[in-house]
Amino acid sequence: MRNGVKRIPGGVHPDPRKRTENLETVVMPLPAEVVLPMQQHIGAPCEPTVKKGDRVCVGQVVGAPTDRLAVPIHASVSGTVKAVGPRLYAGGRHITSVQIEADGEQTLDPALAPVSTRDPAGMIASVRDSGIVGLGGAGFPTWYKLTPPPGSTFDTLVVNGAECEPYITSDYREMVEEPIRIIRGIKLVQQMTGIRRVLIGIEDNKAHAIDRLIHASERDSEIDVLSLRTRYPQGGERQLIYAVCGRIVPAGQLPSAVGVLVLSVNTISAIAEWFETGMPLTSRRVTCDGGVVAEPQNVRVPVGTRLGDVFDFCGGFTSHPAKVIMGGPMMGVSQFSLDNTVLKQTNALLALAPDEINQDAESVCIRCGRCVTACPMRLMPSTMNRLILDGKSEEAAAVWHLNDCIECGCCSYICPAARNLVQSFRYGKAEVRLAERRAAQAAAAAGEEK
Ligand code: SF4
Ligand code: SF4
Repeated sequence: MRNGVKRIPGGVHPDPRKRTENLETVVMPLPAEVVLPMQQHIGAPCEPTVKKGDRVCVGQVVGAPTDRLAVPIHASVSGTVKAVGPRLYAGGRHITSVQIEADGEQTLDPALAPVSTRDPAGMIASVRDSGIVGLGGAGFPTWYKLTPPPGSTFDTLVVNGAECEPYITSDYREMVEEPIRIIRGIKLVQQMTGIRRVLIGIEDNKAHAIDRLIHASERDSEIDVLSLRTRYPQGGERQLIYAVCGRIVPAGQLPSAVGVLVLSVNTISAIAEWFETGMPLTSRRVTCDGGVVAEPQNVRVPVGTRLGDVFDFCGGFTSHPAKVIMGGPMMGVSQFSLDNTVLKQTNALLALAPDEINQDAESVCIRCGRCVTACPMRLMPSTMNRLILDGKSEEAAAVWHLNDCIECGCCSYICPAARNLVQSFRYGKAEVRLAERRAAQAAAAAGEEK
C-alpha cells in the first residue's frame, strides 16, 4: 500500500455518519412490482420494447437504446407488464416507464449466458448490452467510457473506492464483501482496454476495505492500493485523479485527456458479474439510512423497486422525514414521492430528521470567502451566485467558468449565510444551455431563410 500522491484542493470534512459500514448486505424480498423509467443514463430515453399484458423474464430487454449514450434497460423481475406510459420523476420530468407486476418466480431470460468473447472490441460492445452505467454517478454508460476518444489513449485505470459522501457505504461493503470479484473485474477491464497500471484509491477511514483489496491483489504487481486522506469530494473523478496520480484534467475535458480511465468499485464488480453470468444490471446495493430510518442497512434490491418498499423493509420511519434524498446529502436529489423508484445509479436512499438538514434562512453574503477556499475547482462561488441572481448566467459561464462547477455542494455546506449556492449554479447552467440552444435554433432558421 502507498499513500495518495496529492492532497485535493479545497473540500470539506462533513461528519461521515457511516453507521451501516459494519452491517452485512441484506437481500430484500421481491417487491410486488417494479417501475423502470426508460432513462437511467445520460443519453436519450430508451424505446420500450414491451406492451401492456406482455409476459417478461428477468434480464429481458424492455427498453432499447436510441442513441450512443443510451444503454438497454432490462426487466428486474419476471411477471406481466401492467402499464407503459409517462410518469413524473424528481426534477419535474415525465419519463416513459414500464411497470411490471412480479409473479414471484424470477424466471430467467433463457437467452442469458456468460460472455465468451475475449476480443477487446467485442467485450466493450457486450458491456453496452449489459446496461451497465456508472453505479454512483450521473449514469454515464460504462461501455462508452471504455473507449478513449480519437487522439487519446489510456495508460492508467483509477478504481474509485473513495466513497466520500456521508452515510453512503455501498462501495465500502462491495470492497469488504467482494474484493476478489473487484480484482476479476479489473482484469477484464485491462483486457478490454490494454491498460496495465491500476491504482485503487480508498480513503483512510476505510482501513478494512484497504486491507481486503491489498490481500486480494497481492499477486498482481500491476495493481496498487492507495490510502487517501479523507476529504470530500475526493470521489469526484478530477479530484481522485489528482489525488492518486497528481495529474490535472484540463477544464472542459475528460479524464482520457490525461490518459486515465476512472471506474467505481461497484461498476467494476458489475462488469465481472456480467461476463461470468450473463446477468445484466437488474439489481444493486443501496445504503438505506438517515435519522428517521428504524433499521439502517445496505440492501440489495431489484432496479425499479419503490422507495417506500425499501424503507418499509428497513423498519419504516420512526417519525415523519424532513427530507427524502436519492443519493448522498451533498449531491443527492430530493424526492417528492416514495412511489419513485430505485434507478441503476441509486447508491443511497436517505430519510433525514429535521436536525440533519440545514433549515437556516438564506441571508446576505458577508464576503467571508469560505466558499472560495472550499471550492475544489478553484471557482468563485459568491461571484457566480451574484451574477446568476442578477440574470447574468452567461457572464458567470464566460468569465467565471460556471460550467466547471461539479455541483459538489462544498460551498453551500460551508456558507455561514446559508446561501443556496449550488442550487443557483444548477439553475444558471440550465439558463446557459437554453441560451445556447436558442442561439443555435436562430442561426439554423437564419440559414434556411437565405
Ligand atoms: S461563504 Fe457564503 S457568505 Fe461567505 S463569501 Fe461565500 S457566499 Fe458569501
Ligand atoms: S458546488 Fe461548484 S462552486 Fe460550489 S464548491 Fe462545488 S465545484 Fe465549487
